[in-house]
Amino acid sequence: MSNEILILSIIVGILILSVGIWYWKIPEYKRYKSDTLYDVLWRWKWQGRNVVGLWCYCPTCKNSLSFDDTLCRSTNKLNEKITYLICNHCDAGQITQIKGGDRRYILTLVQREILRRAHTKTFILQKDNDDK
Ligand SMILES: [Zn+2]
Repeated sequence: MSNEILILSIIVGILILSVGIWYWKIPEYKRYKSDTLYDVLWRWKWQGRNVVGLWCYCPTCKNSLSFDDTLCRSTNKLNEKITYLICNHCDAGQITQIKGGDRRYILTLVQREILRRAHTKTFILQKDNDDK
């Protein structure tokens, strides 16, 4: 009987210890959840090592932006494929334009840059309501 209690206490001890280590080992990049790329604010969440829910926001009013990538469908030349990022909520209007592809291309591009910064630890943690 006392052996069972001993084994049980050891198991509980190991569990508590692993949860503690797990908390302590949460990598810093998990707190890296926003950044300014291509003049717009990007926000996302981490699911494991993957970026999920990536979207862009107006640097002025912080509302979500919309993409206009209609030009991408009318040409096959990469340097003519332009996607506009537009704010429909404030006077900022067109925030930026990115050459090379449509919205999927841009989301992949931004995601790759976020992962690069996270892995090389070259990111700067921003407060979510930062003005930059
Ligand atoms: Zn705006």
